[in-house]
Amino acid sequence: GGIFDRLQFGKGKLLAPQKQLRAVNGVDLSIAPGEVMALVGESGCGKSTVAKTIARIYEPTAGEIRIDGEDISRMKFREMRPIRRKLQMIFQDPYASLDPRQRVRDIVMEPRRAQAGGKISRRELHDEAIALLAKVGLNAEQAGRYPHQFSGGQRQRIGIARALSVRPKIIIADEPVSALDVSIQAQILNLMMDLRDEFGLSYLFVSHDLSVVHHIADRIGVMYLGFMVETASRDQLFSQPKHPYTQVLLSAAPTIDKSLAKPKIEIVGEVPSALRLPSGCCFRTRCPMAFDRCAVDRPVLTPQPDGSAVACHLHDRNDAERKSQ
Ligand code: SF4
Ligand code: MG
Repeated sequence: GGIFDRLQFGKGKLLAPQKQLRAVNGVDLSIAPGEVMALVGESGCGKSTVAKTIARIYEPTAGEIRIDGEDISRMKFREMRPIRRKLQMIFQDPYASLDPRQRVRDIVMEPRRAQAGGKISRRELHDEAIALLAKVGLNAEQAGRYPHQFSGGQRQRIGIARALSVRPKIIIADEPVSALDVSIQAQILNLMMDLRDEFGLSYLFVSHDLSVVHHIADRIGVMYLGFMVETASRDQLFSQPKHPYTQVLLSAAPTIDKSLAKPKIEIVGEVPSALRLPSGCCFRTRCPMAFDRCAVDRPVLTPQPDGSAVACHLHDRNDAERKSQ
């Protein structure tokens, strides 16, 4: 024993092979069993890229991705097969990934069938489909219907059931509720939390919506321009955000909880292009606290005494120690 479910990015550069260059740098995160880790940030910050790279939808060019201690970052498609079982993904628009000509019971069992090869009977597939659909709140009669006969929230339930069919350890969820009405969002989030407890799942949850993240995350990583700028527990992040960008993000968010209301912080300028990163700190062109060093040195994600980590010279512990000497 002693194998800890850990999913980790080494320091390094991850490059998505797309028309537009999308680089993610210095992302180093691990997710414990049963933990919900959320990645937040504005669109284009690289949070989806990180999620898709972990799922090996994008190819990493450097760094490592470990699951149960095994580095999957260089694995060939074939070698990935046993890993795929551990790691499943759900998307913002489940409809796009549901074959319209297939009945829901077949859609749900597709990963399971692929995994089992020929070694599973139709009867077993059928029974497992019905059981899985029940877990996500759909009944046996609905199992014979087609995707277009379901609402958006129900389709996301189908996507979740499909991910669960192979009993994954981690589900990577990229904006899974952002296309849904707010009342439906809460239902899906609550379902995801119930399933976490029942199946011992971890989630990597990508969202631009801080109220969603506040609802479900144990830990949060904040990204800006392809960099992880802060990681912290949910309570730390919402009560004492440390990175100036996190402070701006929270101050701009609609108030989740009155006691957490933040003073408005004005932010200037546009998000720079990821193709032309500022020298030094990626946030310096918009940071209200920027000082000389910020244009010269790129801050690295530095562990803080309270367990959070921040990439900002104001929180560089060596610096602080030097100053206090
Ligand atoms: Fe702002 Fe400087 Fe910290 Fe960057 S390193 S967030 S520019 S204070
Ligand atoms: Mg995205």
